[in-house]
Amino acid sequence: MTCPVAMPEVVDHLAELTGFRDRDVVDVTLVSAFRDLLQPESVAIYRPVGDPEAQRWLTRARLRAHETTPAADSVWTELEDLPPLATMPNHQRCLREQAPLSFKSAGGVVSLFPLGSEREVGAVLDIRTRELLSDEQRRLVCSILRVYRNFQGLLDYSERDTLTGLLNRKTFDGAFLDVAAQSAAAAAAIEPGGTTCLTRASWLGVIDIDRFKAVNDTHGHLIGDEVLLLIGRLMRSSFRYQDQLYRFGGEEFVVLLRGGELENARTAFERLRGNVAGYVFPRVGHITISVGFTPIRPGDSPAGAFERADKAVYHAKQNNRDQVVYHGDLLERGLLIEESHTGAMELF
Ligand code: GH3
Ligand code: MG
Ligand code: MG
Repeated sequence: MTCPVAMPEVVDHLAELTGFRDRDVVDVTLVSAFRDLLQPESVAIYRPVGDPEAQRWLTRARLRAHETTPAADSVWTELEDLPPLATMPNHQRCLREQAPLSFKSAGGVVSLFPLGSEREVGAVLDIRTRELLSDEQRRLVCSILRVYRNFQGLLDYSERDTLTGLLNRKTFDGAFLDVAAQSAAAAAAIEPGGTTCLTRASWLGVIDIDRFKAVNDTHGHLIGDEVLLLIGRLMRSSFRYQDQLYRFGGEEFVVLLRGGELENARTAFERLRGNVAGYVFPRVGHITISVGFTPIRPGDSPAGAFERADKAVYHAKQNNRDQVVYHGDLLERGLLIEESHTGAMELF
């Protein structure tokens, strides 16, 4: 049997798929490609998010027949509002076994394909059709997914720090501006009256390991690197799935924290500080971190916000380290005077 899909059409879709660097857009492009090539009832990508013991399904992109724009869970979706993994046991199995599977459901067939990459457990591609996919169609799906995985691997390579697996500095400016725009849009949508919606504020935190030079000097660089790797892990387990975590270089880390009021942000950074302080690092023992944080303001620049958070870190270093300092508190207490180019006042 010949493949019912025209070759040039497939190549066009592959070109489109690999033409973007934004992973949200890549996932949307993937579901759009399968919708055009297979004309299914629906096609979707589901990704597990949250703590390993209590993960839930995030819809990355879903397109039904006759829809033109894919649906996706918003970045503001609370973890508790997403369906737990156990609600889709076949998807869970596909993920666990990293193998395609299909099953009958009301009015048709559901075909599942794992979307894992080398670094991540990945996600599940869910294609719903009236009839079982033909061998030819399955082969087509698997070939396109190979390109998708290779492309994700390349994106990881260029965007991630090889030691910790956290994002590297390269993508920070773009992500910062996205987060700033999303916060501003969410606030405007919820409160047209003009008052800022604090629950949709975003925050930038800078984290610097205390007396890290001494770790290297005493135990050597390899042990120092292991500490960096473990700090990266503690960061992952301390923040939520929507937060973006960066290693900026050396022993300096940055967090873009989505949503929440001042006290939520303070609690999140305090949770990390406490988790690090309470962790026993192999051979090294106890280590502490200093954290400074600031809200991302409307019209903020990445450099401006970073500078504010970094000033708060500096203040922590001057005051015995092992603490979280809010830049706004320093302004309020008169310990810092804001320079005119970074804005006249702290808005939160
Ligand atoms: P402070 O509490 O004031 O931050 O003191 P510190 O010793 O952490 O700060 P300082 O900036 O003086 O030293 C940072 C040290 O981080 C210098 C260098 O030895 C170490 N470092 C930077 N990058 C790496 C890395 O990639 N691997 C390892 N092992 N060490 C690094
Ligand atoms: Mg430093
Ligand atoms: Mg340091």
